[in-house]
Amino acid sequence: MIILMMGAQGTGKGTVAGIISEGTGIEQLSTGDVFRKNIKEQTPLGVEANKYIAKGQLVPDEITVPMVTEYLDSDLAKNGIILDGFPRTLEQAQKLDEILAERGKKVDLVINLTTPRDEIIDRIMTRRVCPNCKTTYNIKLSPPKVEGICDKCGSKIIQREDDSTEEAVNQRLEIYETKTAPVLEYYNNKGILRTEEVSIRINRLGKAVAADIVKDLKK
Ligand code: ADP
Ligand code: ZN
Repeated sequence: MIILMMGAQGTGKGTVAGIISEGTGIEQLSTGDVFRKNIKEQTPLGVEANKYIAKGQLVPDEITVPMVTEYLDSDLAKNGIILDGFPRTLEQAQKLDEILAERGKKVDLVINLTTPRDEIIDRIMTRRVCPNCKTTYNIKLSPPKVEGICDKCGSKIIQREDDSTEEAVNQRLEIYETKTAPVLEYYNNKGILRTEEVSIRINRLGKAVAADIVKDLKK
């Protein structure tokens, strides 16, 4: 099964994808995590990608599409995959359909998380991540048990560079509105879009949404 996780930054995509992955056994692939791993290890891919990521811009398709394709063809994707962070443009969505079609596959479900803008900004600014195991925390909503330390692996949690400046955050949200939102329409027209609101206002957080989706997938 091929599942896509959509939603602006700070809606909890990564967290929801992680819970669905645990509940279904389908592996999760976050393009942002793959880039950050390569940046940390200073691979040629990482060095190139960081030129864009540090500024809050999208990494060009010539780099991103082959990278995702490689994962789709790897053992990781043998039971399907949950893509978190790809596709982000209409071009990427169309390319993904071509790549999958060549392999006799298709996108089965697209999950779209929505959150009010003010809550999003607040969440990004208070977001922290474990650089080792990639677990995401929120110092207000879901802090680790011991301040500053990852529950799962004991590493020191950090703020992502592109989360720490308001400029980079706004830039990413704007890209989302202009480039990624049209992708939702594309999948809506195919009848495979499932939109879920995640917001403290309606007392519905990512965990509850993820649990509902896992339940439905197991039916
Ligand atoms: P966020 O969604 O919070 O911006 P991600 O971890 O998904 O964070 O991505 C971080 C950065 O990696 C993005 O700002 C972008 O520069 C790059 N990136 C991730 N996925 C893609 C993609 N599909 N196409 C182009 N760039 C991407
Ligand atoms: Zn950790």
